[in-house]
Amino acid sequence: MPLSPIERPPHREVLPGIHWIQECGRHRVAIAQDLAAHGARWAGGGRELHVPQNAYLLVGERTLLFDTLSPAAGGLVLAALDDILGGRPLDYLAISHPDVPHAGNTGRIRRRHPEARLVAPRAGETHALYHLDDALHVGPHDVIDLGGLTLRFPEATFLDAALHTWMCEETTRTLFTVDWLGFPHVSGECLRRTDEIEAEIDVDRLEAFHSRVMFWFQYVDVDRVRAATDALAREFGGYHLAPAHGLVVREDPERYFQLMNEVVRRVAESGRGGVL
Ligand SMILES: [Zn+2]
Ligand SMILES: [Zn+2]
Repeated sequence: MPLSPIERPPHREVLPGIHWIQECGRHRVAIAQDLAAHGARWAGGGRELHVPQNAYLLVGERTLLFDTLSPAAGGLVLAALDDILGGRPLDYLAISHPDVPHAGNTGRIRRRHPEARLVAPRAGETHALYHLDDALHVGPHDVIDLGGLTLRFPEATFLDAALHTWMCEETTRTLFTVDWLGFPHVSGECLRRTDEIEAEIDVDRLEAFHSRVMFWFQYVDVDRVRAATDALAREFGGYHLAPAHGLVVREDPERYFQLMNEVVRRVAESGRGGVL
């Protein structure tokens, strides 16, 4: 019996030197239909609903992988690394936080790329628990110069673990927001930037994700969260946005900070959601 062809692992260079590797998760047609029945036109037409995991490989004179995808995508991320690196070393392996869907392939990648220096957040006190004592610890005052790309590690304003960092790249002006700004997409939208898809990302799509993953928004002081979001918008206004569970935003990123303020207000009012 002939072997089926090996599919090319899904990745693309989305901004100069930034390679986006995407794992689309379970394909859920029934949930897409349900969302469409409740008015989400973007989810209609029998399309599959994807809640993605994203990893980003940054390639300058040196290379750094930010996050590792879930264990189910171990083969995918290793194949994508082979594809993009083309025999070059992986110099750094950085994890945003030790959550399985983000850090679950750390061991596999380190076995394949023993040359990679592990990079972990400085914030938090549980490094020993996650075998991160020997990693290079980074925080808001640290810079990693990849040669052509420059990385900083701003505090994660919105997070789901104490041991956590965001990352930004200053040449392309890109902010990697990890769990914040996630949203589902449908088949046909995989690995597309938000300016490349037909539908405009709206509050409903963002709420569908955050009302589950950041359900603690229901307990927050909305005004304080809005102030924190507005401060982020001032600091990173004009930066491209590269979330771990959404699509890359290149155009009109300011709009997303406003949308997220509305998401927080809604979740604070109506509580935890859960369709995804
Ligand atoms: Zn996550
Ligand atoms: Zn997809």
